[in-house]
Amino acid sequence: MSLSDITERLTRACDRARRDPASVKLIAVSKVQPPERVEAVLGEGHRIFGENRVQEAQDKWPAWKDRFPDTELHLIGPLQSNKVRPAVRLFDAIHTVDSIKLARRIADIAAQEGRRPRLFVQVNTGEEPQKAGVAPDEADALVAEVRELDLSLDGLMCIPPEHEAPSLHFALLAKIAERNGLDGLSMGMSADFQEAIAFGATHIRVGSAIFGARVKG
Ligand SMILES: *Cc1c(COP(=O)(O)O)cnc(C)c1O
Repeated sequence: MSLSDITERLTRACDRARRDPASVKLIAVSKVQPPERVEAVLGEGHRIFGENRVQEAQDKWPAWKDRFPDTELHLIGPLQSNKVRPAVRLFDAIHTVDSIKLARRIADIAAQEGRRPRLFVQVNTGEEPQKAGVAPDEADALVAEVRELDLSLDGLMCIPPEHEAPSLHFALLAKIAERNGLDGLSMGMSADFQEAIAFGATHIRVGSAIFGARVKG
């Protein structure tokens, strides 16, 4: 598949859901992809990208951001407290806020750096012990606490468990967002982004379907 195949599918999924395609952001997930594949997608004019590791993004993206200054970078992987400063400098959005401690650190460093990343609270909708994210029944409390800080909270994010129907998780995330008055829903990957769009996704995170299978990692 290619970028144009994905945008076409995105548009069709929006038509079926009676949604405006402009209401869904396509985040091209470029983690561990060979640079020439990423440059090809930049060359096609795409400017919204996602990475899951701060260090890897720091190694790759400053040079591309120089060449393509209108690039928007999204952090979609876990954020350790010692990486908050480089993350705040590099990323325009962080999708993986899952504790008030992390939110406070982002707020402090964003103020120091004069940056204002858009934030998503990650919800562990499958309640998987090994997975990051706040438990669904603790999400409202975390959202309320984050809102007391000087931050831009845009919405919620989830990664459904691998072997379950994603729709239940998309529906749960949408329900939690709605009762908290949040518009942003970061959900849907290569295998299920059309379904995510039907459930209201505003940010889909698509890697292998755009770039091809990841070479490593
Ligand atoms: C890698 C990754 C994606 C993209 O996965 P694909 O299946 O390649 O589309 C989306 N979201 C997160 C959090 C990821 O780590």
